[in-house]
Amino acid sequence: MSWEKNVRKVIPYTPGEQPKQADMIKLNTNECPYPPSPKVEEALKNFDADQLRLYPDPAIKKLTDAIAEYYHVGEEQVFVGVGSDDVLAMSFLTFFNDKENPILFPDITYSFYDVWAELYRIPYETQALDEEFRILPQDYQKKNGGVIFPNPNAPTGRMLPLSVIEQIIEANRDVVVIVDEAYIDFGGESAVPLTEKYDNLLVVQTFSKSRAMAGARIGFAIGDPKLIKYLNDVKFSFNSYTMDHITIETGTAAIQDGTYFKETVAKIVCTRERVSKELRKLGFQFADSSANFLFVTHPAHKAEDIQAMLRENHVYVRHFGGERICNYLRITIGTDDQMDRLLSLLNGYLGA
Ligand code: PMP
Repeated sequence: MSWEKNVRKVIPYTPGEQPKQADMIKLNTNECPYPPSPKVEEALKNFDADQLRLYPDPAIKKLTDAIAEYYHVGEEQVFVGVGSDDVLAMSFLTFFNDKENPILFPDITYSFYDVWAELYRIPYETQALDEEFRILPQDYQKKNGGVIFPNPNAPTGRMLPLSVIEQIIEANRDVVVIVDEAYIDFGGESAVPLTEKYDNLLVVQTFSKSRAMAGARIGFAIGDPKLIKYLNDVKFSFNSYTMDHITIETGTAAIQDGTYFKETVAKIVCTRERVSKELRKLGFQFADSSANFLFVTHPAHKAEDIQAMLRENHVYVRHFGGERICNYLRITIGTDDQMDRLLSLLNGYLGA
C-alpha cells in the first residue's frame, strides 16, 4: 500500500498484564497493594460533577503548587504530566535532540526508553550493567546527546548513592541528565536537592507506586525553571489539557497527606525485607532491593516455569525476555498476606 511508506512505524512498549480475576494476587506491575490516602476518597466524595463542564486548568496549578510545597522547591521548578511515562516521553522530545551523539542508558533498564528513542528517531547506545547488575558511572563519561537512568534501576531494584549520581551529572554538564525516580521512596536517596546545583538535571517521579495512584496517572518532574519552561513549551504544543479536574483534586489530596504516605512506604519496606529473607532461604538469588519489587532468580528452576506455576494459582509476577535476564522474575511487594500466599506456593513447588 503506497500510504504505508509514510507511516511512522514503531514497535510499542508492552505494559504488564492487567488480568481481571476476582481472587488474583497481582504482583506483576509494581502497583501499591494498599489504597490511596483516605484524603483521596474524601476529595472524590466532595467533587462537584458540574466542574466537568469546564476545561481543567492547563497549568495544573493546584497540584503543581502542592508538589512544590511538599518538596520545598518553587512551583516554576515543577512539571506535571499524565503518569511519569508522559513526563518522560515529553522530556525525550524536549531534551534529546542531538542527531549526532547518542543518548545513553543502561542495557537492562525500563524498557520504555528504547521505545521513545525509536519513536522520536533519537540515536541511543545502551551501557552494559556489570555481572551484578550495577550501573558503572564511567560508562556515562563519553560524548553523548543526553543521559537517562532510573534510580533505583528497574527491574533490578539496585540503587546508586547520590555521590555517584553527582559524578555522572558532573561528567555531563553539556547535556540533560534525567534521573527516573519512580521507585525512590522505597529506599534510595532522591536527587531532587541536586537540581538546585545542576541546571541540567531533571528528576522524574510518580504517584503510581508509593502514593498508590497508578490508576489516576500522575507523574512529575523537578528541575531548573529553564528546563521546566522548555518542557511546558513542548507540552503546550502537544496537548494543553493533560490532567482532568478529578485527578488534580485527588492528586493534591494525596501529596498533602505525608503521614499516610510514609506509613504505607514503611509497611512495604518491612514486608520486602521479610520476604527477601524467606526467598533466600528457598534458594533464590538476588541483590538487595531499594524498590517495591524483588528481581530474583533460582539456580535450579526456570523462571518461566515458576511464573507458570504461580499463574495457575492466580498469582501474577513479571517475566521479561532478553538474554541476561530471561531467568529472572520481578515480584512486586504486596501485603503480608499476599506475600505469604506466594511464599507458600513457592515452598510447595520447590520442595516437591
Ligand atoms: N519509570 C519506571 C522505571 C517505571 O518502572 C515505570 C512504571 N512502569 C514508570 C517510569 C512509569 O510509571 P507511571 O507512568 O505509572 O508513572
